[in-house]
Amino acid sequence: MGLAAAYQALVNGHQVDILEASTEPGGMAAHFDFGGLSIERFYHFVCRSDHPTFELLAELGIADKMRWVETSMGFFHHGTLHHWGDPISLLMLPGVSLTSKLRYGLFVFACTRRDQWPSLEHQSATEWITRYCGKDIYDRFWHPLLDFKYYEYANNISAAWIWTRIRRIGKSRKNIMQEELGYIEGGSKTLVDTLLDAIARRGGRLHLGTPVQRVVIENNRVTGVATSASHFSADAVISTVPIPLIAGMIPDLPPEWKARYEAIHSIGVICVILKLKQSVSPHFWVNISEQGIEIPGVIEFSNLRRVNDTTIVYVPYYMPVTNAKFSWSDDKLRDDAFSCLQRINPALTRSDIIDVKVARLKHGQPICEPGFAAKIPPIQTPIRGLQIADTCFYYPEDRGIAESVRLGRNMARSIESNCP
Ligand SMILES: Cc1cc2nc3c(=O)[nH]c(=O)nc-3n(C[C@H](O)[C@H](O)[C@H](O)COP(=O)(O)OP(=O)(O)OC[C@H]3O[C@@H](n4cnc5c(N)ncnc54)[C@H](O)[C@@H]3O)c2cc1C
Repeated sequence: MGLAAAYQALVNGHQVDILEASTEPGGMAAHFDFGGLSIERFYHFVCRSDHPTFELLAELGIADKMRWVETSMGFFHHGTLHHWGDPISLLMLPGVSLTSKLRYGLFVFACTRRDQWPSLEHQSATEWITRYCGKDIYDRFWHPLLDFKYYEYANNISAAWIWTRIRRIGKSRKNIMQEELGYIEGGSKTLVDTLLDAIARRGGRLHLGTPVQRVVIENNRVTGVATSASHFSADAVISTVPIPLIAGMIPDLPPEWKARYEAIHSIGVICVILKLKQSVSPHFWVNISEQGIEIPGVIEFSNLRRVNDTTIVYVPYYMPVTNAKFSWSDDKLRDDAFSCLQRINPALTRSDIIDVKVARLKHGQPICEPGFAAKIPPIQTPIRGLQIADTCFYYPEDRGIAESVRLGRNMARSIESNCP
């Protein structure tokens, strides 16, 4: 979001400094070196509806880097890996009544057709899904997904937010039977690097390893930002850091505004990334609802983006950072992740592990409860020249590159009107 905002501001004729706390650019979409393979720290796929990404790729001259792949989904339940994600797979699933299957199928279909969400805004996903699909479907499919992501918040997640997730994936299809997902050749680094080149060509300055300590406000207008080593003067500041950091970084905001930012919470995420000698399953994504496995699913990324004939699997652990698991050692996480994969594919042995990396993020996903829309403060703050947003500002859409690009560019386009 920050890079997209910077690029657009430069296009509009402004001078731009980008201050990034990390020593790597790209934020959640950044890459790391996985034994010679450059890959995302957190899995990234593209959906057919991600238009702001396609527009930016075209503008940067790299539209030809988009790749589309016919992918499939699995569902690991009661010790068996089932095919998932199309009407036949749903009908074939054992142990679920035909009525429940039809209700669930209709529910997913209606989600892909719906484009209004006010009626969902004040319902929890738990109430909504149970009412439309029945308790059996909720308990079997959705309860474990929400529980092992949101823990104590699981029963209070917005139905509107879940709907946009179902719709985004549900509409990324070649036809009713075939899911189709995308990736950028070379990973999200290709987009980040090309954006950085375009920014540098227009005179933008990127300062890595430069956390902002304080946004400076004088006489109700922003005048710059302070880091530990220097001061950057500015007529306009766009903040795209995670919202829970705002009150500490901008202490001079009015107290009622700080309270609004402080009322928005997030969960953390840890991804255990394994490089393996053999595949876990033919699926890109396997949802899990299985006694003794405390993760919502695994992502076999190499079933989307093929990489040097090795298998790359992401095992995501979402949770509030207060959960004891968030402090587990890398070794403990690796062992837990691998034992999950072995449950799905018992033919895997430890000798199949080539390499493992653990990536942690404290603010991995905002918690959007029913009524969340009313909690989001305006992007333009009462401080002249200061705009603030993060991924929860495009609620009910889920956090994603496309929406972050769209919002970042829109904030840059608003600089003149916010900073007369
Ligand atoms: C596990 C996971 C899976 C994902 N999967 C997908 C996917 O499949 N498809 C998709 O489109 N999107 C996906 N996303 C989301 C996507 O990565 C983000 O929406 C996108 O990167 C845009 O992020 P952003 O710029 O809005 O926020 P961020 O990437 O969080 O950027 C915020 C930046 O602020 C910096 N920062 C923090 N504090 C300071 C400070 N004090 N001073 C300066 N800088 C600071 C951070 O270092 C960071 O670079 C995923 C994210 C995660 C975590």
